[in-house]
Amino acid sequence: MINSPIDRVSFRGYSFFVKRDDLLDYDLSGNKARKLYHYIQNYNNQKMIISYGGVQSNLMYSLSALAKRLGIRFIYYSKILPSYLKDNPTSNYLGAINNGMELIEIPHSEWDEYIQSLKQQNFEDCIFVKQGGLQKEAEYGLKILACEIDEYAIQNDLEDVGLFLPSGTGATALYLQKHTKHKVYTTHCVGDSEYLKSQFLECESDDSIFPTILSLDKKYHFGNLYKEHFEMYHSLLNDTNIEFDLLYDPIGWACVMKHIDSLPKNMIYIHCGGLIGNSSMIDRYRQKFLKK
Ligand SMILES: *Cc1c(COP(=O)(O)O)cnc(C)c1O
Repeated sequence: MINSPIDRVSFRGYSFFVKRDDLLDYDLSGNKARKLYHYIQNYNNQKMIISYGGVQSNLMYSLSALAKRLGIRFIYYSKILPSYLKDNPTSNYLGAINNGMELIEIPHSEWDEYIQSLKQQNFEDCIFVKQGGLQKEAEYGLKILACEIDEYAIQNDLEDVGLFLPSGTGATALYLQKHTKHKVYTTHCVGDSEYLKSQFLECESDDSIFPTILSLDKKYHFGNLYKEHFEMYHSLLNDTNIEFDLLYDPIGWACVMKHIDSLPKNMIYIHCGGLIGNSSMIDRYRQKFLKK
């Protein structure tokens, strides 16, 4: 993996640094590349990758790219696909199918039980990745990210540095905080702050090394469409010339702007990639807000 660049941008009158992990690689980009790096470096002739979760998930796409790179099978369990997606595959789902993903659909009513039993199996000779990649193996690549950032801060004489990234499972923020000497701030894009903390606790029992969770006043339901998110996406693109993701980053940036006065002077926003998923989100936004 090559070290990704750090850009200086200005947004709404404030200056920021952006760690461009979206540029790491087209297929294995963003924090998913960091979270999966362990499996590339420590590949041990496992025969297949097995995982489960949402059918437009960024992680699912990245796993399909990983399987292709390693030359092995990728089995993915999801709930029954909606027919519009089956008929017109798009974005992460389309990319994963093209990479050879073998999808197994589980009826809604059997899902919980099915996944419980899946987690209890002993997958010898396989790489088993939990939903969202919330597991110890993610630490390996995130330690490297932490080193790159700490090194950058030293080389550029930056003091009063803070890092920010939005969380889904929280694995990225957690392991980054464990290894960087700077303070990591995050926000919950899935569930509330208690839920995010419970996710941290699944990986680490020492809560003194947890990232700092910031919140917005409004609650968002993950994956739903909000006009202000689409506006934030465009305004970021306009001001910074960087395309950000539509699921996590509008919440992330809204949170940074809300708390800007109490954050460190030099904020480094970690761009976690996810741009392949934008095409289906943009279609949905256009349908909802532009055509009527
Ligand atoms: C997956 C993802 C996140 C969240 O990462 P977690 O480690 O699950 O918290 C944030 N931003 C983007 C673009 C992602 O794809």
